[in-house]
Amino acid sequence: MAKRDYYEVLGVSKTATEDEIKKAYRKIALQNHPDTHPNDKDAEERFKEASEAYEVLSDPKKRSAYDQFGFSGMNNFQGGAAGNYSNVYRDFSDIFGGAGFSDFFSSFFGGGGGRQQRGGSYGEPGASLRYDITIDFSEAVNGCKKEISFSHKVKCSTCGGTGGTGVKTCPTCHGSGRVTSGNGFFQMASTCRTCGGKGHVIENPCSSCHGTGTVSKSEKLMVTIPAGVDNGARLTLRGKGDAGTNGGEDGDLILFISVRPDKYFVREGSDVYLQIPIAITQAALGSAVLVPTVDGVNIKVDIPAGIQSGTMLRVKGRGVPALRGSSRGDMYIRVMVETPRRLSSRARDLMKELAGEIKEDTSPTPMEFQE
Ligand SMILES: [Zn+2]
Ligand SMILES: [Zn+2]
Repeated sequence: MAKRDYYEVLGVSKTATEDEIKKAYRKIALQNHPDTHPNDKDAEERFKEASEAYEVLSDPKKRSAYDQFGFSGMNNFQGGAAGNYSNVYRDFSDIFGGAGFSDFFSSFFGGGGGRQQRGGSYGEPGASLRYDITIDFSEAVNGCKKEISFSHKVKCSTCGGTGGTGVKTCPTCHGSGRVTSGNGFFQMASTCRTCGGKGHVIENPCSSCHGTGTVSKSEKLMVTIPAGVDNGARLTLRGKGDAGTNGGEDGDLILFISVRPDKYFVREGSDVYLQIPIAITQAALGSAVLVPTVDGVNIKVDIPAGIQSGTMLRVKGRGVPALRGSSRGDMYIRVMVETPRRLSSRARDLMKELAGEIKEDTSPTPMEFQE
């Protein structure tokens, strides 16, 4: 299926301001968010499409590249228009001012309540939590399992998450969660201090959780990090954040993954780069050399005779596996020809003989600079 133009996706003009783009995206995202449309493939597609468009158009650099070169201009941006879920969520929390997206949505759509919901249920969603984890380069390439220890709020077992008995409407704010103060001209609305904005109070708070309905608990969890993750990736563990209360949805635990750089391999997307030295004789005569790969095995690579220093050789399929699907990137090997630093007397004699054999040019024509 052909990709739709990003401006068309968001329904804005090519001259739209950042604000207009943000508004347009917010509207589409709210209407199609997967949290509110579970199992709706069309909504999910629209959401992803809009998120991808927004990721590009909200970034001045990417936007100008897109304006000039279209979709092909996006190839220069790593992880740019990938449209994968962790990116989508990142954008989402960004656009709503850093508020946890699940908090935002559950309160926005009444999916468990908060202060929007009055009477009957007092359910509140749990917060989503951030967990930072650093893994090695090879762990990111090949995938790994990591045990993480974290603390989150779980349902209080004493009161079953209710916080106590005798729930009643807050007498101070009469359930609105807000109080207004000031004279007739200036009216200030602020969060009610009696109930903390919840709109209700508990007459007999539970002694274990002091009426909050949750208690802190340390937990260990074995997490599988998929092969191919890159620095900056995020992994969402559904429902592993703080517990919601009174039927409110549990928050998520979001893993922020950092990857330690490797000493030799440099990664760009799913391709890897490696630099190896070869001797001057290997360069002139050609040679087969053993080269390490990201899998940890060495492979034999043929160096063609007459190779120039700095030449890049490509080995297909020896890069990083794609997060989805079975494809792999490539490995690029930059071959650097090393001039011998010390010569034995015999080597020096042979070199001299070689110099006589090869026509040395003592007034060479300059050559163009190459990167
Ligand atoms: Zn309790
Ligand atoms: Zn109140």
